[in-house]
Amino acid sequence: MHGMFTKTITFIQYIISGAYLCIRAQYRSLTGKGREFSEQVEILNICNTCEYREKDKCGGCGCILIEKVKDPESSCPFGKW
Ligand code: SF4
Repeated sequence: MHGMFTKTITFIQYIISGAYLCIRAQYRSLTGKGREFSEQVEILNICNTCEYREKDKCGGCGCILIEKVKDPESSCPFGKW
């Protein structure tokens, strides 16, 4: 029972963290403080071959990748970029 509770809390933290990082990326992109497009493409090419990618999301942080890469302060949770 305790393990199930811990897993549920971890899952909720994962969702909240992913949502926060996506909103931050959107805000920076919309205010002209986003990452250069060419750099976004380079990063997405790395993510596309990554074992942690889960469809359109990063399995490490829960972010939607196409949003995450817009934020110049975002980084790979496993140090790949
Ligand atoms: S951010 Fe890093 S861990 Fe996540 S999918 Fe991209 S390369 Fe993989």
